[in-house]
Amino acid sequence: MAICGNCSKLYADTYDKCPHCAEKNLKLKGCLILIPVPILALIGIAYLANRAPAPEISAATWCAAFIRQRLNDPASAEFDPTSVNMPASKNADGSYTTLLELRANNAFGAKVKAQYLCTVTPGTREREAWREVNISQVY
Ligand SMILES: [Zn+2]
Repeated sequence: MAICGNCSKLYADTYDKCPHCAEKNLKLKGCLILIPVPILALIGIAYLANRAPAPEISAATWCAAFIRQRLNDPASAEFDPTSVNMPASKNADGSYTTLLELRANNAFGAKVKAQYLCTVTPGTREREAWREVNISQVY
């Protein structure tokens, strides 16, 4: 229920104005003002979620994907999260270099530690796949 601000009578709050004196229903108007705020918040969240991550972070993710392809048993790979989350360093030519550590099964099924030095370069357009420049196994 709404209370009229002018004549103080009660009426259903679905009315846009008081049925007794035609004063505007401020409660209803207030609700309409509040609706766009959550919508704007959702748009903002969607925008942030859709935005590409920083290139220093993407580089390590792409490196992990490229290194995985070289392994005997890619499914067994467990990348050290600290090395994956470490921002890659940017090179003068625009590529990024990072050092990744992982544990993966070797050809004999034994889990072994490995470290790779990996350089990748971003695509020229946003969301384009990155390219492998150089990957070398340190150990
Ligand atoms: Zn009224």
